[in-house]
Amino acid sequence: MVIDAGAPYSAQAKLRQMHCQGQSTGGTMAEPTPSGCDATWMALALAEASAAASEGDVPVGCVVVSAEGRELARGRNRREVEQDPTAHAEIVAIRAAAQTHGHWRLDGATVYVTLEPCAMCAGALVNARVARVVFGAKDPKGGAIVSQFGIGVNGRLNHEFDTSGGVLADESVALLRDFFGRLRAAGEK
Ligand SMILES: [Zn+2]
Repeated sequence: MVIDAGAPYSAQAKLRQMHCQGQSTGGTMAEPTPSGCDATWMALALAEASAAASEGDVPVGCVVVSAEGRELARGRNRREVEQDPTAHAEIVAIRAAAQTHGHWRLDGATVYVTLEPCAMCAGALVNARVARVVFGAKDPKGGAIVSQFGIGVNGRLNHEFDTSGGVLADESVALLRDFFGRLRAAGEK
């Protein structure tokens, strides 16, 4: 399955403008809600995840949004492509976001990621001082925020972020299942 990450963007951006900035749409649309915005941004992160899968990497995608609600950067898992054990989606995205932002501190930023961050990425998100981490599916074994360790949320480090999980989690799990299913099928041939 190959999803063109570019195609849904303009539609999503339009939706985001209407929903997340509260622009009038003639009174037919519901009031903007934080959760609605979360789903819109997460859809972009899912498009990145899908692109990662088409490049042979485990499908995880990430979008970093500034305190003002502007997209700073997107990233996707590039571990295989780069042969870099640290090239997880969140690392790729926050590095690019810091470049866009012009500062390593991503104060007020929200990070949308399709899978609960691992220990490395959760640590990096603490170091980037992000305000909020929104993830899709929980990762019971590798997740380091709510599943294990409580990085960034248990009060033991010098910075904490708010977190929400389960946003478009089914879509995230479907991408991962599909990816690993195809890997297994290829291995059995
Ligand atoms: Zn990671």
